[in-house]
Amino acid sequence: MAEDLSKGNRRDPGWKYNHLQNPNDTTRVTCNFCGKTTRGGINRAKQHLIGNFRNAAKCLNCPHEVRDELRNYMEEKKLRKEVYTNEFSGFDEFDYQDDVGGEDEVQEIIHKKRGRGSFPSSTSKKLAKGKGPMDVFLQMQGTLRQANIKDSCDKEARAMTIQKVARFFYNNGIPFNVARSKSFKEAIEVVGRYGPNLKPPSYHKLRVPLLRKEVELTNEIINKHRQEWLKYGCSIMADGGSDRKQRTLINFLVNSLYGTVFMESIDASSFVKTGEKLCELLDRYVERVGEQNVVQVISDNGSNFVLAGQLLQRKRRHIEDIGKIPNIKKALQRAIALIGFIYGHSGVLNMMRDFTKNKELVKSGITRFALSFLTLQRLHCQKTNLRAMFTSDKWMISRWSKLPKGKSIAHTILMTTF
Ligand SMILES: [Zn+2]
Repeated sequence: MAEDLSKGNRRDPGWKYNHLQNPNDTTRVTCNFCGKTTRGGINRAKQHLIGNFRNAAKCLNCPHEVRDELRNYMEEKKLRKEVYTNEFSGFDEFDYQDDVGGEDEVQEIIHKKRGRGSFPSSTSKKLAKGKGPMDVFLQMQGTLRQANIKDSCDKEARAMTIQKVARFFYNNGIPFNVARSKSFKEAIEVVGRYGPNLKPPSYHKLRVPLLRKEVELTNEIINKHRQEWLKYGCSIMADGGSDRKQRTLINFLVNSLYGTVFMESIDASSFVKTGEKLCELLDRYVERVGEQNVVQVISDNGSNFVLAGQLLQRKRRHIEDIGKIPNIKKALQRAIALIGFIYGHSGVLNMMRDFTKNKELVKSGITRFALSFLTLQRLHCQKTNLRAMFTSDKWMISRWSKLPKGKSIAHTILMTTF
């Protein structure tokens, strides 16, 4: 098996950053950056370099570019393998070899089963604890939770698959930004998980029953939010923006402790310029959500919105304009300075991603103003991680901690009130 491993792995980029202590033992792999030896072949060694895997301690010295390179490689390989396991009963043995996580018994079972191409469920259960190959097999049977293990694959199968997806976009005039939508990614994900022979929804199904069902599901979600609005109050967020056809759109969102829900997007080209009309529109929303539930109306800083806000406050006395609450204003300014600093220094950004496990503080694609609000939420979620980062040795010895701006940012994040 050791021989197989070395054969299968020559093209694995992991070998650029690792070496063997003993050329005849390909399970013991030593990291070039920190000298740590892992015992699970090149795959385990890659997990060590990339970090955040259950069975491999993260390498503290691995540069970011290397981490990204290996992560991409593993993801591509995994995708290809999924396509291959679904399309062909026999596949390249070596593709599996370098992903085996080191449990020899498990490898044995797979080898035996592979010949027959069938995987009795009892065996699958036995395998369920392991990683890599087992995940793929279970996935084949459509029984698996999401495989979060980065696996082996080759670039061609993925290229072929995404080419078809791309063609679907081009042939049907689907806007490119759809590719960024969460629902698109989820759709791809579940199609993959379903496996071959998924019967696509028909024209009629899409138009009637599925649509009806979706409205129902959405209403259920909104009702859950609504209960929260009743309990704790909520904020209405209205944000203006224009689409590609130069129409002015206003997006209405309602935010509560339960989260933010998108209510509606209104084409306001005809009346956005006047505060009165806008006020009417906002007012209608306050009515719809229930005035007693609305704590505040948040809008962007366009003069029309400011005017509308004033009019609305005259009418509905207890509603506040969030921009005027000084604490929030200060918090927002500080948050903006903090994020500006982190995202303005790629080294600091990389450090932050280590500490937040690759969670970002800002997300593109959300409307301008909701952005600032949601960013505060994100900051709040990452509070502990960020604090850990700014008190870590890594930060202290870095050159950024010596910059005056860096010092003030660190001060901000450690303030108890922040
Ligand atoms: Zn290392």
